[in-house]
Amino acid sequence: MSTAQNPIQIQGVSLESIAEEFGTPVYVYDGKKIVSQVKILQEAFSEVPLKIKYATKALSNVSVLKLMKKAGAGVDAVSIEEVQLGLLAGFEASEIMYTPSGVSFEEIQDAVNLGVMINLDSIPLMRQFGKEYGSSVPACIRINPHIMAGGNIKISVGHKASKFGISIEQLSEILEVVKEYDLKIEGLHLHTGSDILDAEVFLKGANVLFEAAFNFPDLRFIDCGGGFKVAYKPEDISTDIMEVGKKVSAAFQAFCKEYGRQLELWLEPGKFLVSECGLLLVKVNVVKKTPTITFAGVDSGLNHLIRPMLYDAYHGVYNLSNPSGPLETYHVVGYICETDTIASNRELNEVRAGDILVIKNAGAYGFSMASNYNSRLRPAEVLVWEGKAQLIRKRETFEDIISNQVIIDL
Ligand SMILES: *Cc1c(COP(=O)(O)O)cnc(C)c1O
Repeated sequence: MSTAQNPIQIQGVSLESIAEEFGTPVYVYDGKKIVSQVKILQEAFSEVPLKIKYATKALSNVSVLKLMKKAGAGVDAVSIEEVQLGLLAGFEASEIMYTPSGVSFEEIQDAVNLGVMINLDSIPLMRQFGKEYGSSVPACIRINPHIMAGGNIKISVGHKASKFGISIEQLSEILEVVKEYDLKIEGLHLHTGSDILDAEVFLKGANVLFEAAFNFPDLRFIDCGGGFKVAYKPEDISTDIMEVGKKVSAAFQAFCKEYGRQLELWLEPGKFLVSECGLLLVKVNVVKKTPTITFAGVDSGLNHLIRPMLYDAYHGVYNLSNPSGPLETYHVVGYICETDTIASNRELNEVRAGDILVIKNAGAYGFSMASNYNSRLRPAEVLVWEGKAQLIRKRETFEDIISNQVIIDL
């Protein structure tokens, strides 16, 4: 049975047919869902001049980036390679924000040459940038507002001990450097991390930027980063985006009035736009009963989806092939020689070897964090768009695994 929670098709294309046509494991993305998430955000912030900069690192397939462009979003890139992906997808350089973290100055220069906005994330970088470009290249400054967002220290990046951004407590030094090199600062930025639940957390960060903003006369935008929470478990609360939009927009407009100019509000959502659109389809290789536990061993693992092992992330799982089978409790595990539990203690309809299991919320930080550990091939990616399932990345082959190896004579 197809339910909203456990779909058996996307836009009329059955998941079973996708697994059959493209094989498993395979990442499947619902393009319509991506576009509708962009629309929801645009609607929630319709009171302000909003620019959405999609956080490419969440899911960096060029076809997905093209879809983002179609939907009216721009790009947030965290590496020069992501900048290049954005350009390849057809974005103008002016639509791309580059937020590096401790990269070489050569990479910064390359990004400037490509014409994208640079988000300066340290005082030494501000100085180097100032020496090289002075006021000729406008830039943005990443502020660390010292706020703990969410409960997970691994994904919270705006707290005091975080490596990201420049401490708000160093504002006077920032201003000295701006003055010394006549830097043209067009934006202030923060990104507190991936677990923002309500408007209050969001506004706490935004207010830090609003207050600092009065020291920067050339601002064009305020960038409040990403981190909107989406539901992973059925009982999870997700960010009430309409409420956040309403409250943050009101605060932003009040700030702009005081600042004396209408600025743009930039947001950099990753998870919010692509988490729920993605499913990872895997096949059960073995059902192994021990005296206490039943394992469902699948043809995937932490090499394809590392979030459960890296972040203790919860991903919903259901059995596509046996929807009316009796419920039993399973540990869903991968085929990697390492503990790679995808889901533990889950009630699933009876799992049999050969069944297809669906892993949910796999769009964000799924494929983009996949590796070749155990010399395994990375999966294919399929985008369903306008009722058609299309391959957007081929499954790797053994040749891909060895293509950069230089095999020497010994
Ligand atoms: C990762 C990241 C984001 C997106 O975070 P989500 O939790 O996926 O919304 C936005 N901005 C920057 C700078 C990031 O590093």
